[in-house]
Amino acid sequence: MKVLVAVKRVVDYNVKVRPKSDGSDVDLANVKMSINPFCEIAVEEAVRLKEKGVATEVVAVSLGEKVCQEQIRTALALGADRGILVETSEKLQPLAVAKLLKGIVEKESPDLVILGKQAIDDDNNQTGQMLAALTGMSQGTFASEVVIEDGKAQVTREIDGGLQTVSLNLPAVVTTDLRLNEPRYASLPNIMKAKKKPLDTLTPEELGVDVTSKVKMLSVEPPAERQAGVKVETVAELVEKLKTEAKVL
Ligand code: AMP
Repeated sequence: MKVLVAVKRVVDYNVKVRPKSDGSDVDLANVKMSINPFCEIAVEEAVRLKEKGVATEVVAVSLGEKVCQEQIRTALALGADRGILVETSEKLQPLAVAKLLKGIVEKESPDLVILGKQAIDDDNNQTGQMLAALTGMSQGTFASEVVIEDGKAQVTREIDGGLQTVSLNLPAVVTTDLRLNEPRYASLPNIMKAKKKPLDTLTPEELGVDVTSKVKMLSVEPPAERQAGVKVETVAELVEKLKTEAKVL
């Protein structure tokens, strides 16, 4: 069974993001970049499937600038077998990503595609669903457990109010939720070994996909600063302030 994992390069989750001074975008100058945390969980799940003897090959895919190779190498150090970079300098929207991944699915014919439920930079939560729709594959989103048996994927999903288990025909698209697993750290020997693993590069043109963005970003602003609170001595004072200052009563 072949597993394809999509890994996105994003600002590290420990970094406090700041807009550029002209508000045109997030400032990425000298900012630490990492694999999107949900994609790290996706890699871990694929590697565990390989360790269990369920998967035979894990292929990590990233789409974006050449530097995305770093995140593919991290996925290789965590246990993926080979990588594919779709290189483009275009700012990719989820639909373009889904179309490019569809192109790779057609080339690679994986039995399972695992993506993060969302990328923590744009918070779209769209790509997995779009990929499933474009390819006609079954989908199990927000997975907290994935079991492959009898040629099917049993996916436990985190939904409002509890857990839902769905049985998917393969090939299928699964997106990861936080509780699916706890990703391992890459060991130094594995980081060294990852440098020798194969990494192919493709272009959107080779996959026949027009990645021109249909969405224009108008501005990026930090959230409004929270005002300091005040302490009141009595309930009467609170009610008074709610009436006269907050004007909510
Ligand atoms: P999103 O729909 O943008 O929130 O992203 C959901 C998931 O799609 C991510 O966790 C990745 O697995 C995948 N994805 C989105 N953009 C990219 C990208 N540029 N390269 C690789 N994977 C991506």
